[in-house]
Amino acid sequence: MALVVQKFGGTSVADPDRVREVADHVARCRRRGDEVVVVVSAMGKETDELLHLAGLVSRTRPGRELDMLITAGERKAAALLCMALHDLGVPADSFTGSQAGFITDANHTNAKILEVRPDRVRVAVEEGRVPVVGGSQGVSPERDVTFLGRNGSDVTAVALASALAAEVCELYTDVPGVFTADPRIVPSARRMSRIRFDELLEMCASGCPKPTMRAVEFARTHRVALHVRSSFTWEPGTWVSEEDPTMEQAIITGVVGDASEAKVTISGVPDQPGIAAQLFRRLADLGVNVDMIVQNVSDHGITDISFTLPHDDLDRTMAAATDMAGGIGATGVSSDHDIGRVSLVGAGMKSNPGVAATVFETLAAHDVNIEMISTSAIRISCVIAERDLERATVALHTAFGLDDG
Ligand code: ASP
Ligand code: MG
Repeated sequence: MALVVQKFGGTSVADPDRVREVADHVARCRRRGDEVVVVVSAMGKETDELLHLAGLVSRTRPGRELDMLITAGERKAAALLCMALHDLGVPADSFTGSQAGFITDANHTNAKILEVRPDRVRVAVEEGRVPVVGGSQGVSPERDVTFLGRNGSDVTAVALASALAAEVCELYTDVPGVFTADPRIVPSARRMSRIRFDELLEMCASGCPKPTMRAVEFARTHRVALHVRSSFTWEPGTWVSEEDPTMEQAIITGVVGDASEAKVTISGVPDQPGIAAQLFRRLADLGVNVDMIVQNVSDHGITDISFTLPHDDLDRTMAAATDMAGGIGATGVSSDHDIGRVSLVGAGMKSNPGVAATVFETLAAHDVNIEMISTSAIRISCVIAERDLERATVALHTAFGLDDG
């Protein structure tokens, strides 16, 4: 008998049929002898709809009230799932984040978990009941309802699995697991049966949308085994765990493309101490999330600095950079919206020379120009033109032998 935390995302509980299907699955797992604790997201696009509604009645949208509103989505899904479980003869109790013992800071709309005291959840399990917890929510020390942020239900599930010392945290979604590349772009992409935490984290950071990076980080720190799987096929998906020494390491695990960033270049910058510090402090104070940074070798004491950042931050960044350029003696500021980044991830890269060379040769053979390069021990990323992104992703997937069959 194992204690399992099962998290169901918005598409998994999008309508009454889906809610009943999830209830069937929970009942099946119980019959097999597992103890199940459930975490649910809001149904379908409900979180977006609630946010939209808030925008229709308010310009200011105060955080405390937003959190009260948004968390109602998960609460509704939890209550409905419990009703469906009761109909199947499975005793089940819904809990808000607060009732489930999630204490968070008071940073509304993006609260951090401070502590989980899941006493009521534990008692429900001991009594043979299924606790169904509203995801992405908690209560602040001031006893206000808080929301953990978009996609926070994954974090709720992992934190609960950790607090309950569950055997595994299953993240159910609308895809059957983690793939070697996005199957919509690379039809020959394969589902991985296993991936290591460090590789999955690099893939998340490179733009792989699921699971949520924050949840994967939490799971790695607290040693919670994850199983990413589909609530549409119910087939086994991808297991995420620490390095398995018996496993031969693949050199490359996956290829991730990301078109969500833009590039800014400041040219003719005097190469003196303190210039980069000034620039990036200013951007940090604006809350801009700078990603890759490249500074050229200086030529006669003059250099260029380029960096990438989310599209949404581009206007603010251009305004700040243009404003600063004169002051630091730079000659120009330009931006490019249409960039893409292709990243290759694999733990075996560390001990296999020639990966970078193969990446560059492959891109060259496909006439793709590289604008920026950055690496970690287990990742190589290249910034290229956005129009080349899909082609480059497919080519690298093939070049590194990841294609199916
Ligand atoms: N429903 C929330 C969202 O869409 C939280 C979650 O599902 O994880 O962001
Ligand atoms: Mg772009």
